[in-house]
Amino acid sequence: ATPTALLVGTGRGAQLGILIRGPEVLENTRRVDTVVLDKTGTLTTGRMELTELLPAPGTDATELLRLAGALEHASEHPIARALARAAEERHGPLPPVSGFASTSGLGVRGTVEGRQVAAGRPQLLAEAGMPVPEELERALADAEARGRTVVAVGWDGAVRGLLTLADALRETSAEAVRELRALGLTPVLLTGDNQAVAAEAARAVGIDRVVAGVLPEGKVAEVERLRAEGRTVAMVGDGVNDAAALATADLGLAMGTGTDAAIEAGDLTLVRGDLRAAADAIRLSRRTLATIK
Ligand code: ADP
Ligand code: MG
Repeated sequence: ATPTALLVGTGRGAQLGILIRGPEVLENTRRVDTVVLDKTGTLTTGRMELTELLPAPGTDATELLRLAGALEHASEHPIARALARAAEERHGPLPPVSGFASTSGLGVRGTVEGRQVAAGRPQLLAEAGMPVPEELERALADAEARGRTVVAVGWDGAVRGLLTLADALRETSAEAVRELRALGLTPVLLTGDNQAVAAEAARAVGIDRVVAGVLPEGKVAEVERLRAEGRTVAMVGDGVNDAAALATADLGLAMGTGTDAAIEAGDLTLVRGDLRAAADAIRLSRRTLATIK
């Protein structure tokens, strides 16, 4: 490929809202046959809303949301933003958090008002010795079956309640998946969220391969597995939890609305956070490289 044609392609990309790290990236783009899509913040807007507050018996709903919101105030995850916002709206300014730590794809912990608070995937808290109380097991299964994202919140050694959240698909996601298929690509949904939420999102946008409940290392492993099958893999993601998988894929596409970690790990940035730009990028690379040779 001549450098001039690649540079022209790069310039055209910028007009389409696609930032390309270097002209050579277009060569990899053309060969892609599989596109792995993250869910939260990629297929969905990532603007989550708190939908239910389910305190365990003996826990006050206000305290549950205040402590969760205070802890999540220190995190930039879409779940965290929704919980901090809901807590502030309902209960005013939040208390400070100290000793904050976050485990990508799992959850967060820290000290609020002298309590060791943790919030995250129910399985994570269970592994840390805080199982979901029996009284809430049914509500957890129900919420997951309805496609809700569920966060368990615990302090002082026990889960004190569940918070459920919902997140809207981006308006353009289904169209983007159709365009990617029309280009001959196989779409795969890869998410850290639970199987029921993932299956519902996949159905709504027309994806039939789903890998759910995976940690960031699991995302890398799945990309590696697809490559080992002989596929040329593009990965589209937005989160800190996607960065390693974006770097592992043959082509990493970061949502411009996402985190700096994802953008730095990607070869391409979809500036407007519109997934249809992923299809534009493939078309652009095919056209650019077809006119050369
Ligand atoms: P996705 O892969 O769809 O972008 P993530 O890997 O970001 O999803 O998150 C996976 C799961 O980890 C979430 O569904 C949630 O249960 C949990 N989680 C991640 N970050 C947080 C947080 N800040 N607070 C609570 N739970 C979290
Ligand atoms: Mg994400």
